[in-house]
Amino acid sequence: MTSMDIEKIYKENNAMLEGHFLLSSGKHSGFYLQSAKILENPSKAALLASALADNIRANNIAFDSVCSPALGGILAGYELARALNVRFIFTERVQGVMELRRGFSVQKGERFIVCEDIITTGGSALESAQILTALGAEVVAFAALANRGICKRVGSNLPAKPEAKLPSEIPFFALADFTFDIYMPDSCPLCKAGSVAVKPGSRGSS
Ligand code: ZN
Repeated sequence: MTSMDIEKIYKENNAMLEGHFLLSSGKHSGFYLQSAKILENPSKAALLASALADNIRANNIAFDSVCSPALGGILAGYELARALNVRFIFTERVQGVMELRRGFSVQKGERFIVCEDIITTGGSALESAQILTALGAEVVAFAALANRGICKRVGSNLPAKPEAKLPSEIPFFALADFTFDIYMPDSCPLCKAGSVAVKPGSRGSS
């Protein structure tokens, strides 16, 4: 599956929105990715996760399990775990702090792939990874359906940007790079053209 195919699937499922968006960072963008709109369709979710699993297997990564940061990563991670036929757990934020709850445990030396739906700076994925390693596990790869082009993924020529938080020594697999321009509000060309940035969440996505 090529990057073009992935972009087509995102567009066809209204998971790549065009408009004028206020991002959670406070910056503005003409595009917004909403992977939940693809993952609401289980057969599409399975298709993407299986392509991601093929990508990981082709690179001879040895792994035991998949872990995702809640909430956004859970569906992608669960489908990836199904495609790889391994167990799946998730971490979640409690009052802003990422934790492993719900009776989940990890084994010493258990090798994890940490999976998100979309990686931007990779901050949440990194927090999940830190919990796993603090408990004695090993993080052997990061994975996501889509990469926003800040972190360096295996097979892409785009270099990591300074904001990237994923450690460069651990491979990061994603199906495609989605590199949209992001603007400071006072230099946003969409604002200058007269429109008002909206929070994607205000129209039923988040
Ligand atoms: Zn704007």
